Amino acid sequence: MSIVQNIERLKAQLPQGVKLVAVSKFHPVERLQEAYEAGQRIFGENRAQELAAKAPQLPTDIEWHFIGHLQKNKVRMIMPWASTIQSIDSEELLQLVNKEAARIDRHIKVLLQLHVAKEQTKSGFTVEEVLQAARNGAFHDLSNVTIAGVMAMATFTTDMEQVAQEFELVHDTFAKLQSMINSPAFNEISMGMSHDWPVAVEHGATLVRIGTDIFGPREY
Ligand SMILES: *Cc1c(COP(=O)(O)O)cnc(C)c1O
Repeated sequence: MSIVQNIERLKAQLPQGVKLVAVSKFHPVERLQEAYEAGQRIFGENRAQELAAKAPQLPTDIEWHFIGHLQKNKVRMIMPWASTIQSIDSEELLQLVNKEAARIDRHIKVLLQLHVAKEQTKSGFTVEEVLQAARNGAFHDLSNVTIAGVMAMATFTTDMEQVAQEFELVHDTFAKLQSMINSPAFNEISMGMSHDWPVAVEHGATLVRIGTDIFGPREY
Protein backbone atom coordinates (compact mmCIF):
# COMPACT_ATOMS: atom_id res chain seq x y z
CA MET A 1 0.00 0.00 0.00
CA SER A 2 1.24 3.50 -0.79
CA ILE A 3 1.54 6.34 1.72
CA VAL A 4 -1.46 8.01 0.10
CA GLN A 5 -3.58 4.86 0.42
CA ASN A 6 -2.51 4.35 4.03
CA ILE A 7 -3.49 7.89 4.97
CA GLU A 8 -6.81 7.63 3.18
CA ARG A 9 -7.60 4.32 4.87
CA LEU A 10 -6.72 5.66 8.34
CA LYS A 11 -8.69 8.85 7.84
CA ALA A 12 -11.72 6.80 6.81
CA GLN A 13 -11.38 4.68 9.99
CA LEU A 14 -10.79 7.48 12.50
CA PRO A 15 -13.93 8.97 14.05
CA GLN A 16 -14.62 12.64 13.38
CA GLY A 17 -12.68 14.87 15.70
CA VAL A 18 -9.74 12.47 16.09
CA LYS A 19 -6.69 14.00 14.42
CA LEU A 20 -3.93 12.01 12.77
CA VAL A 21 -0.30 12.81 13.61
CA ALA A 22 1.90 11.21 10.93
CA VAL A 23 5.00 10.07 12.80
CA SER A 24 7.73 10.62 10.22
CA LYS A 25 10.89 9.99 12.28
CA PHE A 26 13.68 8.26 10.33
CA HIS A 27 11.89 8.77 7.01
CA PRO A 28 13.34 11.09 4.36
CA VAL A 29 11.60 14.34 3.41
CA GLU A 30 10.49 12.87 0.06
CA ARG A 31 8.24 10.45 1.95
CA LEU A 32 6.84 13.30 4.07
CA GLN A 33 6.19 15.27 0.89
CA GLU A 34 4.10 12.34 -0.41
CA ALA A 35 2.06 12.40 2.78
CA TYR A 36 1.69 16.17 2.47
CA GLU A 37 0.36 15.77 -1.05
CA ALA A 38 -2.20 13.29 0.30
CA GLY A 39 -3.46 16.13 2.50
CA GLN A 40 -1.58 15.30 5.69
CA ARG A 41 -0.66 18.44 7.65
CA ILE A 42 0.38 17.24 11.15
CA PHE A 43 3.75 15.49 11.43
CA GLY A 44 5.47 14.10 14.53
CA GLU A 45 9.22 13.85 15.10
CA ASN A 46 11.09 12.61 18.15
CA ARG A 47 14.62 13.98 17.65
CA ALA A 48 15.41 17.68 17.77
CA GLN A 49 18.08 17.70 15.04
CA GLU A 50 15.89 15.76 12.68
CA LEU A 51 12.92 18.08 13.16
CA ALA A 52 15.09 21.18 12.69
CA ALA A 53 16.62 19.69 9.53
CA LYS A 54 13.37 18.58 7.90
CA ALA A 55 11.02 21.45 8.71
CA PRO A 56 12.75 24.12 6.54
CA GLN A 57 12.59 21.78 3.52
CA LEU A 58 8.83 21.33 3.62
CA PRO A 59 5.78 23.60 3.26
CA THR A 60 5.17 26.12 6.01
CA ASP A 61 1.57 25.09 6.68
CA ILE A 62 2.73 21.86 8.30
CA GLU A 63 2.08 21.58 12.04
CA TRP A 64 5.16 19.99 13.59
CA HIS A 65 4.66 18.07 16.83
CA PHE A 66 7.65 17.09 18.91
CA ILE A 67 6.94 13.71 20.51
CA GLY A 68 10.27 12.47 21.92
CA HIS A 69 12.18 13.01 25.11
CA LEU A 70 13.35 16.63 24.94
CA GLN A 71 16.70 17.47 26.44
CA LYS A 72 16.94 20.97 27.89
CA ASN A 73 19.82 21.92 25.62
CA LYS A 74 17.70 21.07 22.54
CA VAL A 75 14.69 23.25 23.33
CA ARG A 76 16.10 26.25 21.47
CA MET A 77 16.73 24.14 18.37
CA ILE A 78 13.09 23.14 17.87
CA MET A 79 11.45 26.32 19.13
CA PRO A 80 11.24 28.06 15.72
CA TRP A 81 9.57 24.99 14.14
CA ALA A 82 7.43 23.08 16.63
CA SER A 83 3.82 24.13 17.00
CA THR A 84 3.24 21.59 19.77
CA ILE A 85 5.59 19.83 22.16
CA GLN A 86 3.72 16.70 23.22
CA SER A 87 6.38 15.43 25.59
CA ILE A 88 6.62 17.81 28.54
CA ASP A 89 7.81 15.55 31.35
CA SER A 90 8.89 17.95 34.11
CA GLU A 91 8.06 21.36 35.55
CA GLU A 92 11.60 22.55 34.74
CA LEU A 93 11.19 21.66 31.08
CA LEU A 94 7.85 23.46 30.98
CA GLN A 95 9.38 26.61 32.46
CA LEU A 96 12.27 26.46 30.03
CA VAL A 97 9.97 26.01 27.02
CA ASN A 98 7.97 29.03 28.17
CA LYS A 99 11.14 31.10 28.52
CA GLU A 100 12.54 30.07 25.13
CA ALA A 101 9.19 30.71 23.43
CA ALA A 102 9.10 34.19 24.98
CA ARG A 103 12.66 34.84 23.85
CA ILE A 104 11.68 34.51 20.17
CA ASP A 105 8.21 35.94 20.71
CA ARG A 106 6.37 32.71 19.90
CA HIS A 107 3.41 31.00 21.43
CA ILE A 108 3.55 27.23 21.65
CA LYS A 109 1.16 24.46 22.65
CA VAL A 110 2.31 21.68 24.93
CA LEU A 111 0.95 18.41 26.24
CA LEU A 112 1.87 16.89 29.59
CA GLN A 113 3.37 13.44 29.08
CA LEU A 114 2.06 10.85 31.53
CA HIS A 115 3.99 7.74 32.46
CA VAL A 116 1.44 4.93 32.68
CA ALA A 117 3.36 2.10 31.00
CA LYS A 118 5.12 -0.72 32.79
CA GLU A 119 8.45 -0.06 31.07
CA GLN A 120 10.97 1.98 33.05
CA THR A 121 12.32 3.57 29.89
CA LYS A 122 9.28 5.63 29.02
CA SER A 123 9.44 9.13 30.45
CA GLY A 124 6.69 11.36 31.76
CA PHE A 125 5.03 12.53 34.96
CA THR A 126 3.53 9.81 37.11
CA VAL A 127 -0.15 10.35 37.84
CA GLU A 128 0.63 11.50 41.39
CA GLU A 129 3.34 13.88 40.21
CA VAL A 130 1.17 15.58 37.63
CA LEU A 131 -1.77 16.00 40.01
CA GLN A 132 0.52 17.41 42.69
CA ALA A 133 2.06 19.83 40.20
CA ALA A 134 -1.43 20.96 39.19
CA ARG A 135 -2.39 21.51 42.84
CA ASN A 136 0.78 23.57 43.28
CA GLY A 137 -0.27 25.80 40.39
CA ALA A 138 2.56 24.73 38.08
CA PHE A 139 0.25 24.87 35.05
CA HIS A 140 -0.95 28.43 35.48
CA ASP A 141 0.50 31.81 34.49
CA LEU A 142 2.66 30.75 31.57
CA SER A 143 2.92 33.70 29.18
CA ASN A 144 3.96 31.87 25.99
CA VAL A 145 2.68 28.33 26.49
CA THR A 146 -0.80 26.87 26.25
CA ILE A 147 -1.22 23.60 28.08
CA ALA A 148 -3.47 21.78 25.65
CA GLY A 149 -3.80 18.34 27.24
CA VAL A 150 -1.96 15.10 27.89
CA MET A 151 0.08 12.55 25.96
CA ALA A 152 0.94 8.96 26.82
CA MET A 153 2.27 5.68 25.51
CA ALA A 154 0.94 2.35 26.70
CA THR A 155 3.13 -0.63 27.53
CA PHE A 156 4.42 -2.31 24.37
CA THR A 157 2.48 -5.55 24.57
CA THR A 158 -0.07 -7.58 22.64
CA ASP A 159 -2.22 -7.73 25.82
CA MET A 160 -4.91 -5.23 24.80
CA GLU A 161 -6.59 -5.53 28.22
CA GLN A 162 -3.45 -4.08 29.78
CA VAL A 163 -3.29 -1.36 27.13
CA ALA A 164 -6.97 -0.53 27.67
CA GLN A 165 -6.42 -0.15 31.43
CA GLU A 166 -3.53 2.22 30.86
CA PHE A 167 -5.46 4.35 28.37
CA GLU A 168 -8.36 4.47 30.82
CA LEU A 169 -5.98 5.77 33.48
CA VAL A 170 -4.79 8.46 31.07
CA HIS A 171 -8.38 9.48 30.38
CA ASP A 172 -9.21 9.58 34.06
CA THR A 173 -6.13 11.69 34.85
CA PHE A 174 -6.95 14.02 31.96
CA ALA A 175 -10.43 14.58 33.45
CA LYS A 176 -8.97 15.38 36.87
CA LEU A 177 -6.46 17.81 35.39
CA GLN A 178 -9.16 19.40 33.27
CA SER A 179 -11.22 20.29 36.30
CA MET A 180 -8.13 21.71 38.06
CA ILE A 181 -6.67 23.62 35.10
CA ASN A 182 -10.13 24.83 34.15
CA SER A 183 -9.27 26.16 30.71
CA PRO A 184 -11.19 25.42 27.48
CA ALA A 185 -7.81 25.03 25.72
CA PHE A 186 -7.05 21.93 27.80
CA ASN A 187 -8.81 19.46 25.52
CA GLU A 188 -6.43 17.00 23.85
CA ILE A 189 -5.55 13.40 24.67
CA SER A 190 -2.71 12.11 22.49
CA MET A 191 -2.48 8.32 22.66
CA GLY A 192 -2.44 5.38 20.31
CA MET A 193 0.19 4.19 17.82
CA SER A 194 0.07 1.81 14.85
CA HIS A 195 -0.63 -1.29 16.92
CA ASP A 196 -2.98 0.11 19.57
CA TRP A 197 -4.75 3.18 18.20
CA PRO A 198 -8.24 1.60 18.02
CA VAL A 199 -8.05 0.95 21.78
CA ALA A 200 -6.87 4.53 22.36
CA VAL A 201 -9.77 5.93 20.35
CA GLU A 202 -12.22 3.85 22.40
CA HIS A 203 -10.78 5.49 25.51
CA GLY A 204 -11.04 9.06 24.33
CA ALA A 205 -7.95 9.85 22.23
CA THR A 206 -8.26 13.08 20.22
CA LEU A 207 -4.84 12.71 18.58
CA VAL A 208 -3.33 9.42 17.40
CA ARG A 209 0.38 9.19 16.51
CA ILE A 210 0.93 6.75 13.66
CA GLY A 211 4.20 6.00 11.93
CA THR A 212 4.60 2.42 10.69
CA ASP A 213 1.03 2.11 9.39
CA ILE A 214 1.62 5.13 7.15
CA PHE A 215 5.27 4.99 6.12
CA GLY A 216 6.14 1.32 6.64
CA PRO A 217 8.98 0.07 8.84
CA ARG A 218 11.73 2.49 9.88
CA GLU A 219 15.35 1.87 8.90
CA TYR A 220 17.51 2.74 11.89
C1 LIG B 1 7.58 6.30 17.03
C2 LIG B 1 6.48 6.82 17.88
C3 LIG B 1 5.13 6.65 17.51
C4 LIG B 1 4.68 5.89 16.28
O1 LIG B 1 4.94 4.54 16.37
P1 LIG B 1 4.41 3.49 15.26
O2 LIG B 1 4.36 2.22 15.99
O3 LIG B 1 5.41 3.50 14.15
O4 LIG B 1 3.07 3.94 14.80
C5 LIG B 1 4.17 7.20 18.34
N1 LIG B 1 4.50 7.88 19.45
C6 LIG B 1 5.78 8.08 19.83
C7 LIG B 1 6.05 8.83 21.07
C8 LIG B 1 6.81 7.55 19.06
O5 LIG B 1 8.07 7.74 19.46
